[in-house]
Amino acid sequence: MPVNLSWYGVSTFRLEVDDTVIFLDAYMDRVPAAPPVGLTTAQVQRADYVMVGHAHFDHLAGAETIALNTRATVIANYESIRLAAGAGVPDAQLLAVSGGEPVELAPGLRVRVFPGLHSCIWSGGMLSADDEITGDDAVTHQQRMARMGIGGALPPGLHSPRGDGGALGYLIETRHGSIWFSDTSGYWTGVVDGLRPDVAILAVAGRGNIDGEPIQGSLASFVASQARLLQPRRVVYCHHDDWLPGVTRGRQDTAGVTRRIHEEAGDSVDTVDPEYDTPMAILDNLPG
Ligand SMILES: [Zn+2]
Repeated sequence: MPVNLSWYGVSTFRLEVDDTVIFLDAYMDRVPAAPPVGLTTAQVQRADYVMVGHAHFDHLAGAETIALNTRATVIANYESIRLAAGAGVPDAQLLAVSGGEPVELAPGLRVRVFPGLHSCIWSGGMLSADDEITGDDAVTHQQRMARMGIGGALPPGLHSPRGDGGALGYLIETRHGSIWFSDTSGYWTGVVDGLRPDVAILAVAGRGNIDGEPIQGSLASFVASQARLLQPRRVVYCHHDDWLPGVTRGRQDTAGVTRRIHEEAGDSVDTVDPEYDTPMAILDNLPG
């Protein structure tokens, strides 16, 4: 199979495109209470690139280990790159991006980087995808930051105490089709509208952020609105597992998300709720 996608919890995936191995996010070395994902960063023997969506530990931590062990190039926002450099990853393996960069990965394989948005972590915690949430539509950045004092110790690994560093979306263009990767629940409407990737990997977690404000409605309706704008033929869910027990409350039920996607983006959109460490020929047998 020329293109294989394997999930390793939260929004970490290994994407194999022909001979190129790409990690999307890098967080696999989780707290002991979280179910194991079938792979640790120390076990990764081959990677050409690690593309990280933003600078929180549940996405970025582990990128340094993979980069140091495999000589992979880390593609990430400036804050993530600053942290990776501080962890000893050589400059030659660091590629800072902020949106707008077409990056050649191999002949016939490139990624286009787009500005994204982080979910509204300052507005509520982990939600059930079907909970209807409203309000919090006039909260300033200063008020948001004041709300976000994170209690307790974080798991070890790279993490920015200053925020997410600017969430990014990646459109990976292969000769076999295209894949959109967004590792947190947020988007700019004008950025995602009409992108039409073949496959969209979308986060199902937290309170959705549309153009800088929290969605007035459910997480399911947020994901569905993103699918309606992007117009993918297949959606792969992520960030919906029990990755931080005590904060996460089990694995998210995605039945309501799928139902809303079919209502808003059409019945023909295929949805995939992946299992850990199970390669999927993700561009094969696309509907439509
Ligand atoms: Zn985050």
